[in-house]
Amino acid sequence: MNHPSAYVGRPVVVLGLARSGVSVARIFHDLGALVTVNDRKSREESPEAAELEALGIPVICGHHPEDLIEPSTALVVKNPGIPYHIQPLQRAAELGVEVVTEVEVAWHLSAAPMIGITGSNGKTTTTTWIGELLSAAGLHPIVAGNIGRPLCEAAVEAAPDDWIVAELSSFQLKGTSGYRPRIGMLLNLVETHLDYHGTMEDYIDAKRKLFANQTTEDTAVLNWDDPVCRDVAAATAAQVLPFSLTQELEQGVYVRPPFPAVGDEQEPPEREIVYRQRDGREHRLVRVDELGIPGRHNAGNAMAAAAAALAAGAAPERLAAPLREFRGVEHRLEYVLEHGGVKYYNDSKATNPTATTMSVRSLQGGIVLIAGGLDRGSDYMELLPLFRERVKALVALGETRDKLAGVAALAGLANVQTVEPEEDAEATLREAVRLASSAAVAGDIVLLSPACASWDMFPSYEHRGRMFKDSAHTL
Ligand code: ADP
Repeated sequence: MNHPSAYVGRPVVVLGLARSGVSVARIFHDLGALVTVNDRKSREESPEAAELEALGIPVICGHHPEDLIEPSTALVVKNPGIPYHIQPLQRAAELGVEVVTEVEVAWHLSAAPMIGITGSNGKTTTTTWIGELLSAAGLHPIVAGNIGRPLCEAAVEAAPDDWIVAELSSFQLKGTSGYRPRIGMLLNLVETHLDYHGTMEDYIDAKRKLFANQTTEDTAVLNWDDPVCRDVAAATAAQVLPFSLTQELEQGVYVRPPFPAVGDEQEPPEREIVYRQRDGREHRLVRVDELGIPGRHNAGNAMAAAAAALAAGAAPERLAAPLREFRGVEHRLEYVLEHGGVKYYNDSKATNPTATTMSVRSLQGGIVLIAGGLDRGSDYMELLPLFRERVKALVALGETRDKLAGVAALAGLANVQTVEPEEDAEATLREAVRLASSAAVAGDIVLLSPACASWDMFPSYEHRGRMFKDSAHTL
């Protein structure tokens, strides 16, 4: 797309209200574009509509009109979650009308450089951590995107010496064309969101867009342990700043001595995170066991966050304190309480098997796992080694309960229980927590790490996590 000021006097359609839609609509309206907003949700479900109408912006709620997109439409800005098969987007494609997401608009508007963070797992943790690292280094971060405030709002406010730190989903990236972050980061890639993307290629292509327009003045922070990230490195024009848990690097951020490529260690050695510059100079950033949040995946997130901060100009010696002090984000391996010698952890945000695997492997002690949720068609066989090696008992709930119980039985797990749906989701989860607590003895851990999205039972993973914490508190 062109700079938003090029749309003065031209029709722009904003599809999807929500906070980001409101912010985009206001921006184009203020610039003098002829904005129409459309949302399939009813007016009662769209409280934001009135605010826009008061500004004179037409808002159509409840359906997508057939003639919403016309040959004269100059641009469509869609909410990232809206699938491309709906009629207005099909029509836009037929007419050759450009369709973008808010990220593209924000990038054109921003006076500040951006750090764009994507990956299948660890985005929110890493994004939040980068914010802390930049602040500690005396830089000015504005954390936005999937977390924090809408990107466009941040872009309008940002001064040239700020840094916009943007968490970006594949859905957002799919709707970009010219977007060029000063620092682009791909943390990892595993199979997920296939219900939206259709194929793994489409998902990977969306992630690759983060690097497509970068030049030699930009930096690509890439996970050297992930083959897709290495492919991206081979294709990008940007300067590559790699990070690795499992190998020492000639240049980049890595762990010394490295973690083994697979498996756990009985007696892990003392490890440190090292930054090696291009000229070979080394800086020890922090010891792994000093990091504020546990698990090797969080050591990976720490390295990624440190790499971004270094690329943004932070001095290496300023990074140790915020690497030690960061306490993580709610619903991500969040410690809840201890009850009868059993520790309870809320990891409701673990919505795929890889995330659950990482979390379980981060904790020491017998693990009673509560898992299950929305069925997206996966067979969950990926969890078999985890069930065999690290899980003491499984309490399965939600749509995938029988699948998970089946994998656990194959893994030879003796203690497997499924919770049949009760009257409401809260009662079902409460029952799961009760069963888990009776399967645990002092020294064990009860972990909610569902490996599935929450929408079969709950409005969100946050809701699920809060219910879990409530249940643990009332045991
Ligand atoms: P995202 O924003 O990408 O969903 P989060 O930072 O919210 O990621 O973490 C979600 C869950 O993913 C965590 O609870 C943890 O179980 C898992 N996780 C976090 N970082 C990683 C990582 N680097 N690799 C694999 N799994 C991770």
